Amino acid sequence: MSEAHPETLALIEGLLKEQRTFPPPDELRRSAIIGDDSVYREAEEDFEGFWARLADEFLTWYRKPAKRLEWNPPHCTWFEDGVLNVAYNCLDRHVEAGRGEKVAYHWVGEAPGESRDITYAELLRDVSRLANGLRELGVGRGDRVGIYMGMVPELPVAMLACARIGAPHMVVFGGFSAESLAERLRDAGATVLVTQDEGWRKGGKVPLKANADQAVAMAPEVRRVVVLRHTGDPVPWEEHDVWWHELVADVPDTCEPEPMGAEDTLYLLHTSGSTAKPKGALHTSAGYLLHAAVTHKWIFDIHDDSVWWCAADVGWVTGHSYIVYGPLANGTTSVLYEGDPAYPDWDRHWQIIERYGVTSYYTAPTLIRSFVKMGEEYPGRHDLSSLRVLGTVGEPINPEAWVWYWKVIGGGRCPVVDTWWQTETGGILITPLPGVTTLKPGSATVAFPGISSRIVDEQGNPVERGSGGFLIVDKPWPGMFRTLFGDDERYVRTYFSKYGPGVYVTGDGAKQDEDGYYWLMGRIDDVINVAGHRLSTTEIESTLVEHPAVAEAAATGAYDPDRGQRIVCFVLLKDGFGASEELGEELREFVAGKIGKIARPAAVLFGDDLPKTRSGKIMRRLLKNIAEGDELGDTTTLRDPAIVEDLKRKADHALGRG
Ligand code: ATP
Ligand code: MG
Repeated sequence: MSEAHPETLALIEGLLKEQRTFPPPDELRRSAIIGDDSVYREAEEDFEGFWARLADEFLTWYRKPAKRLEWNPPHCTWFEDGVLNVAYNCLDRHVEAGRGEKVAYHWVGEAPGESRDITYAELLRDVSRLANGLRELGVGRGDRVGIYMGMVPELPVAMLACARIGAPHMVVFGGFSAESLAERLRDAGATVLVTQDEGWRKGGKVPLKANADQAVAMAPEVRRVVVLRHTGDPVPWEEHDVWWHELVADVPDTCEPEPMGAEDTLYLLHTSGSTAKPKGALHTSAGYLLHAAVTHKWIFDIHDDSVWWCAADVGWVTGHSYIVYGPLANGTTSVLYEGDPAYPDWDRHWQIIERYGVTSYYTAPTLIRSFVKMGEEYPGRHDLSSLRVLGTVGEPINPEAWVWYWKVIGGGRCPVVDTWWQTETGGILITPLPGVTTLKPGSATVAFPGISSRIVDEQGNPVERGSGGFLIVDKPWPGMFRTLFGDDERYVRTYFSKYGPGVYVTGDGAKQDEDGYYWLMGRIDDVINVAGHRLSTTEIESTLVEHPAVAEAAATGAYDPDRGQRIVCFVLLKDGFGASEELGEELREFVAGKIGKIARPAAVLFGDDLPKTRSGKIMRRLLKNIAEGDELGDTTTLRDPAIVEDLKRKADHALGRG
């Protein structure tokens, strides 16, 4: 496979050395939805008033709220006396305003040539029909509905049908196993599950219904299973199953939306499980929708004629907020792609961007690093000139990948917005605004207007600029989770006990530079402490990726009796480079040379892949287990459980454990 173009490499190196900053392009600044910093000042003066103004502008209410924030730490409500329906806000009001013919989703199937455009009017009809069908199955307000599907248009339809009738949904990513699904169904107490016969992935079929059957056998509260026919292959059938198309065959095309309280539950969603057993975050209606809609519009600069593509899976919070709720609330046209970025070839995304004239594109650093690895030839095959804004989320993005994304995909025209947030936060909290913020590659820049984040030390004192610490948020925001479903005690203990009940502890380490820009350092538990020096895993990883042989890297600390911890690195090489002891030594030297001797890794281990969750994040707690020679524990959320055994063997060998 080809490598990054030598000219690009030289440019990237130059830019990194210069530590160049990227002010908003003039054209974008002039036309941007937010083109100056007045929103920051407005929010600074009165953050409750700021969100209340937006709640009036962005949402359509059956009854407007008189209340704003009620804060009984660590619990809050926003706009509590307001009444609305989320599905009405995402669909009906656009159709009523005469925009029913606008495309909501350009759906692209994985099989080449398969695609379908769904207008807002069609989406409203499909949602209403399924909502009627679910009501016929006895689903009503407050009943939890599990959803286990691939990236088909019916996935948002199922979510919105639940929202329409006031039934909280719990989506489980279609790549999860039957065990993971069963665990989440039980955790949520779901009584109905919506699934499909099979999904497409990398040219093969994913047996969703068969997995669902296994899961339902382990989740006795599930009493009905709705099955969408997608691939059309025969599937096993149980008495409690009902075909989606039969369920909606005789129902009306319209369905009265349920008037819901602002604080009624919209959905439950589990975190991706990169640090601990997944937690079921509970999100409510009005505040969440508001946060998703405002951040979507302002951060990705969404205009009426924008074509938006968030390339995450709907099964993660990124898909909930930025494929479904935010874009639909804003009446945006989105791309929804079913399949793999490498199928049939590595230019699939670029081909889709060209075909639909995508204007804003949002993806994860892990995928960008794969694109870098595959080379410029793939984007070079397509016209990407429609793009205006590029975004990333999910992990810190190393400056090298950032600059490549900016240069090769964005043609040097498009701001790259690095957005920091979590399942728990509901929407983006730290991010640039593309028409306002001067960018620095690798930094998520500043807090979104109305968000009060800070960095503190172990005791909760503010740290000096330039020093690392704990990232916290000390005022509530509308989209925040309200609890962990069924386990409020864990909510309090995990997030609101370290500095008292009024301070949300994100679990991430970060530092602020002299300009107040945030640099995320990785999970705080994973900040490495070598002989009293606190080293950022992100910094070590970014440094390794600067080496021409390295495609991806992960660093972790392992217990060391003399120095507290020692650094163990895991490396995935670019095609064309082979693992060797010499290269390991060269990489250790490379890190020591760039960061300092203290950062010299004790070991560099080469793997065929890194242990990643199914959302593509490095699973930090496993790295630590591997580095420390511990038992591996739960690996069910891992994409490829087999690779950890191999890494464990290598680690045990390299670190002298038999
Ligand atoms: P769990 O909480 O179960 O361990 P998780 O934290 O990986 O899983 P998510 O909520 O999907 O589950 O991920 C949020 C985390 O992703 C953040 O806490 C942060 O560590 C990381 N993250 C997200 N966006 C960024 C970003 N732009 N820069 C750096 N890190 C990011
Ligand atoms: Mg987390």
